[in-house]
Amino acid sequence: MSIEQRVQLVEHLFHQLELESAQFQKASGMSCVSGCGKCCSHPNIEASPLEFLPWAFHLFLNGEAEKTLQILKQTQTTNCIVYKSLSVIDQGRCSAYQYRGLICRLFGFAANTDKYGSLRLATCKIIKEGQADKYNSTSQAIAKGLYVPVFTEYYMQLNQIDFNLGNKLLSINKALKMALEEVLQYYTYRTSPDSEKKCG
Ligand code: SF4
Repeated sequence: MSIEQRVQLVEHLFHQLELESAQFQKASGMSCVSGCGKCCSHPNIEASPLEFLPWAFHLFLNGEAEKTLQILKQTQTTNCIVYKSLSVIDQGRCSAYQYRGLICRLFGFAANTDKYGSLRLATCKIIKEGQADKYNSTSQAIAKGLYVPVFTEYYMQLNQIDFNLGNKLLSINKALKMALEEVLQYYTYRTSPDSEKKCG
């Protein structure tokens, strides 16, 4: 499958999640604290290369793929290089929010299945403690059947697009690097998408 086809399918999956997430957030009443970047500044985020293929393709279209790959090759940090810290108190922002990965979209407002087969909301301490009433009532509602996006189901759908790139969980900067390498390698012997798209 071409890069463009895979990018379209990943973006379609993200769109589906966006709709489900909005519905879930509305039902739960929970929300991220404005300007909070605590989850993005965590040093051990794992992701698959495939979920960053739209990000890598976007950089490629804008002529930034090679430069970013060099940065990733040289970086020593395990913190996501896309994150831009704005202060020392965990405030910051994603510099590529529109192209963030599946993990970035799921965390906070999706559930894992525990060893008893029950769904457990995976969110951060800030929401759990700061919005405890909403967190508790939402957890109860989930137990009674409130729909919540589920990590494993979304990752299974991602794997179906490209098992090789979707089924690997790597530290986030390695996932970003592999996504860029995939795009650059793909276009080494193929014509690049036309320049019209470069303006997109
Ligand atoms: S890609 Fe963006 S949202 Fe995802 S971890 Fe990095 S900074 Fe955060």
